[in-house]
Amino acid sequence: MASALSSIEPGGWDALVVGAGPAGCVAAASIAARGLRTLLVDRAAFPRPKVCGGCLAPAGVAALDDAGLGGALRLAGAAPVATLRLIARGSSLSLPIRPYVTVERARFDAALAQSCVERGVRFLDGVGAKLLDLETVELRAGDERISLRPGAIVVADGLGGAALSGRPEFRWTVKEDSPVGLGATLDAPPAHAGPDAITMVCGRGGYVGAAPLPGGRWALAAAVTPWLVRRDGPAGAIDSLLAESGLGPVAAGAVRFRGVGNLTRRRAASRGRVLLVGDASGYVQPLTGEGMSWAIACAARIGPYAEAIVRGADAAGAWGRECSRTLGVRRVVCRAVCAAAARPRVLDAVLRLGALGAVPGWASRGLCWGRA
Ligand SMILES: Cc1cc2nc3c(=O)[nH]c(=O)nc-3n(C[C@H](O)[C@H](O)[C@H](O)COP(=O)(O)OP(=O)(O)OC[C@H]3O[C@@H](n4cnc5c(N)ncnc54)[C@H](O)[C@@H]3O)c2cc1C
Repeated sequence: MASALSSIEPGGWDALVVGAGPAGCVAAASIAARGLRTLLVDRAAFPRPKVCGGCLAPAGVAALDDAGLGGALRLAGAAPVATLRLIARGSSLSLPIRPYVTVERARFDAALAQSCVERGVRFLDGVGAKLLDLETVELRAGDERISLRPGAIVVADGLGGAALSGRPEFRWTVKEDSPVGLGATLDAPPAHAGPDAITMVCGRGGYVGAAPLPGGRWALAAAVTPWLVRRDGPAGAIDSLLAESGLGPVAAGAVRFRGVGNLTRRRAASRGRVLLVGDASGYVQPLTGEGMSWAIACAARIGPYAEAIVRGADAAGAWGRECSRTLGVRRVVCRAVCAAAARPRVLDAVLRLGALGAVPGWASRGLCWGRA
């Protein structure tokens, strides 16, 4: 049987997109929509799991619809959730929010990749990529390797990707004390989670979120300070956070958690023919559940920049500015919310005021990103 790599021509690609998460899929579809020959590769075999709370903010839903990819949400069985339940030090407050939708990432990302194929993108899973220089990418599948020199290279390989490893111009600046990510998909609701709500439990060492997924499953996702994970291990760290609010454990012994490294980090968004998008271009810890929406909103704007590069123009600097314009304000909001959540006494006081009806509606609505 022909392998994935031997089935593609090494020449003639206008754009190569590395990574088929939300950023890579939306970028590939946006580039292909401009009539450019687009190859999308992912090192994982699809469908593949991803550490994530699975909650897509209204801005992400709208950006996906605008990009003509809203069908992927329906294909993945996405369901709306319009209540956010916050818990800190035992105080609890349920807030009405602009509806998020929840999705299981393995299904959602596979549906997005399928939508790309329907739009003329060539998709190969099980194919890893590594940037050799600012014009050349090596693709690998098993023992096979080929080199491509596409017109534009879009790197959307997330926080854990290695497509740019060893490239000095794309070295990460990592905030070493920032939380690390942990996640698992559960077959039953964790004991502390209320039905039909996204539940966030905040403590001194981070926060744990639980969201109902379509089909009766649950996403459990946490951002936890590295010292707590070192002290208690992944499952123990989550149980410690819950215990701070007087909540019982998540039967964590039976749950297999996946992890990602420090969540707050940044690096250059572009150089020469290479454009970065999604988590690959930098991230801040995800309390407001916006990472996918950031990835989608930026990726939906990449088409003109990739096309300019394919036509020989220098659009790298302009792409960095476009990303900053799109996400700057929301990242400030997210940092502010995270700073408040890291002080459970403050959050506890806010929740008590909220329970008395003293938190204005605009404050809870501002927690959610309404439109990019
Ligand atoms: C604990 C936690 C909870 C979160 N909860 C939420 C939430 O509720 N809502 C939300 O919107 N966001 C959430 N996020 C953030 C969200 O998961 C990310 O922001 C989002 O997945 C970014 O999408 P992406 O396409 O940039 O990267 P990813 O989704 O990470 O996709 C990257 C892809 O690149 C592939 N890849 C990596 N290296 C290579 C290579 N060398 N060659 C080829 N392919 C490669 C990977 O296999 C992967 O498929 C959470 C994150 C964490 C850590």
